[in-house]
Amino acid sequence: MIYKFEEITREEIIGYLNESDPVKIQAYLDEADRVKVENIGSKVFLRGLIELSNICVKNCYYCGIRHDNNNLVRYELLNLHGSHVTGHLYCRPGREATQLIQGELPGL
Ligand code: SF4
Repeated sequence: MIYKFEEITREEIIGYLNESDPVKIQAYLDEADRVKVENIGSKVFLRGLIELSNICVKNCYYCGIRHDNNNLVRYELLNLHGSHVTGHLYCRPGREATQLIQGELPGL
């Protein structure tokens, strides 16, 4: 059941994501696990997240710190306006990852 991304149509992807048959869902999970084990083994990798700021002008729907989410208190650990890192930085010492994250700030 391995597909290359180019071989799958948008409609097929939507079909997989909307699947409700538990047998088919389990088959997808089993296949995903098989591919994972084949590529990175059965290890669990921990990722550390350091959020420098949760202020963001963008509105990515899946993101908890998106601009239109008014259910949180905004903060900046450092005043990074004017000379800061935008987007997400990943530092990967070995196989573990530390993610430095902040939203996109206004005016950039
Ligand atoms: S922090 Fe990143 S993912 Fe979240 S809304 Fe901003 S740009 Fe999108």
